[in-house]
Amino acid sequence: MKIAGSTSLEDLPRICPLICRQGNPQYGEAETHVVEVGSVRFGGERPVVIAGPCAAEGREQTLAVAEGVRAAGADMLRGGAYKPRTSPHDFQGLGEEGLEILRLAREATGLPIVTEVMDTRLVDKVAEYADMLQVGSRNMQNYPLLKEVGRAGKPVLLKRGMAASLCEWLGAAEYIAAEGNYDIVLCERGIKAYPSGEYSRYVLDLNVVPAVKLHTFLPIIVDPSHATGVASMVEPASRAAIEFGSQGLIIEVAADIPGQAKPRCDAAQAIDPLTLKRIVDFIDRREREFAERALAASETACVQ
Ligand code: PEP
Ligand code: MN
Repeated sequence: MKIAGSTSLEDLPRICPLICRQGNPQYGEAETHVVEVGSVRFGGERPVVIAGPCAAEGREQTLAVAEGVRAAGADMLRGGAYKPRTSPHDFQGLGEEGLEILRLAREATGLPIVTEVMDTRLVDKVAEYADMLQVGSRNMQNYPLLKEVGRAGKPVLLKRGMAASLCEWLGAAEYIAAEGNYDIVLCERGIKAYPSGEYSRYVLDLNVVPAVKLHTFLPIIVDPSHATGVASMVEPASRAAIEFGSQGLIIEVAADIPGQAKPRCDAAQAIDPLTLKRIVDFIDRREREFAERALAASETACVQ
């Protein structure tokens, strides 16, 4: 029986010819299109770590977190100025003031910034400040927004819709590519499934990481913060994501300032800079071990 609108991975060459491997044999079976944000290279030599507050809530808070994540060894800074919140009565982000604060944080730390844009009318404004534009989970299928973001001339971090299939997610990326922008980084951030909310916020779908790499040359990173919603799960989830082949992480961090109020959004999933440093150290150690093993293997091959 044919069902209207149903898709399977076999349909990818039709849905997303610009970004699927089948349509682009020049990338072979495993090559990644490296997305550069300043000197940061997604899909390059080593996994990229983006970290920062859920939202830029104020100057002092954002600068403190930014300094903490820089010292921990993160490559990029995250932070929302426009926040998608379940209730319109909740803190919505500082808007343009938040963008100004993020700009200060970039100047203070030298870290490029990624921030979310939710509104087609604000794409140009956010692009004036951001080094990378984030399209959030709730907007993954906002096609006018995807088109606008595709025309903005900035790399894009495209989060997976919380109930999106791989076909739908790659179809969303195709909208951006169709505007001529291939600098797209995909981000798995947890999907809705039975246990959502019972013991974790979403279900971290690590299985999708190798599947993404099989079907597209775009780099993929993982957000262990929104996927779990629990600070104590973020470090193990980060390690697991790297073991699954994730080419980066985006992590929410709260500053360690005595007497400082808790973050106004997503406090329960924020880790401290020390925990972030352990995650960065894990990646460094793993990369060193790989390099040493590769060197030993090539020396053995030379001797033989
Ligand atoms: C975020 O990263 O700030 C965010 C809101 O994430 P998501 O769109 O994945 O919920
Ligand atoms: Mn958040």
